[in-house]
Amino acid sequence: MGRIALEGITKNFGNVEVIHGIDLEIGEGELVVFVGPSGCGKSTLLRLIAGLDQPTTGSIRIDGKDVTRVSAADRGLAMVFQSYALYPHMTVRQNLSFGLENTRMPKPEIASRIDEAGRMLEIGDLMERRPTQLSGGQRQRVAIGRAIVRNPSAFLLDEPLSNLDAELRGTMRAELARLHERLGTTMIYVTHDQVEAMTLADRIVVLRKGIVEQVDTPLGLYNRPQNLFVAGFIGAPN
Ligand code: ADP
Ligand code: MG
Repeated sequence: MGRIALEGITKNFGNVEVIHGIDLEIGEGELVVFVGPSGCGKSTLLRLIAGLDQPTTGSIRIDGKDVTRVSAADRGLAMVFQSYALYPHMTVRQNLSFGLENTRMPKPEIASRIDEAGRMLEIGDLMERRPTQLSGGQRQRVAIGRAIVRNPSAFLLDEPLSNLDAELRGTMRAELARLHERLGTTMIYVTHDQVEAMTLADRIVVLRKGIVEQVDTPLGLYNRPQNLFVAGFIGAPN
């Protein structure tokens, strides 16, 4: 579960091509980080994988199945955004269960998933609060919880921590790493922060202006950057 393959992906906005032909394979349970400067196409690529937008050319497979024309809701993935995107008029519990009531999932199953996510993320005592009554870190935990209760085959996270202060970001990063270890679910994590990439990733995809510059483990990138851009961006010695 959670194998993702991109083949020949391009994306145009109007006449402008912003993704220039990307091939990539992500293995089951991998934590892959897309890193690169602002505007290089990280969010666009993630949205294409999520099914929130369509590639101009190319195909996307999940677990061997071509999902290029499959809707976001039917891809079995869960996305977490930088802006928490919680429903302000709903409690935490309602935010977590939203959308699940419309599936065939039995009520007790929904309740137990919410309890489990509450424990995992330590938000169990916040269930009756509304988003405005939560700190930034707590809101982001709820946003991650909302992804977890869906039991997705992969998590897609777009700069999920960049609205948090540095200290909390460090804490949450460690929590995400633990969560990934515990769930074993494929994660694609987008960031412009090299430190975040180097500490979290099994493999890093370095993007620049809509192309992949290099794909390697953090150590591999550090020891063998393929060009000056990668070296400079990762902060490698040469
Ligand atoms: P990143 O997430 O790496 O900062 P984006 O994927 O948001 O980069 O953007 C990549 C490029 O595509 C940028 O040049 C951006 O201006 C452009 N872009 C993104 N979304 C749209 C859109 N909906 N319409 C037109 N251009 C867009
Ligand atoms: Mg972005």
